[in-house]
Amino acid sequence: MDIHKHLLHSAKINNNCPECFLTEGLEFSFSQTEKETQLYKKASEKIEEVLYCHNCKNVIYPVNWNDDIERVYSYHKKLARSIPHGYRLKSLAYLIIILDVLVLGLIIFLLVRN
Ligand SMILES: [Zn+2]
Repeated sequence: MDIHKHLLHSAKINNNCPECFLTEGLEFSFSQTEKETQLYKKASEKIEEVLYCHNCKNVIYPVNWNDDIERVYSYHKKLARSIPHGYRLKSLAYLIIILDVLVLGLIIFLLVRN
């Protein structure tokens, strides 16, 4: 099984960093993980949201966000469009389903004929 991480949206913001107080380091990123097997893909329901400061190399946790950051956050959250989190079957899965139907049809055919 593979785990992929999709970056949904990222944005550099001009707010003051709560750690180093500079305005040029903060970046929001929104990502979602997706499991992939041979038969299906399934994205996680949860979107991972990280505010990172490239200047002081800190992850800024929501406890330390101020009102301005919160405001910018809710704006960018809307731009991060998530992948549907249901199961998405891959073609191999469809092939197996089709083969099942064919085999079932063959069995019924043979039963009816006798
Ligand atoms: Zn910083």
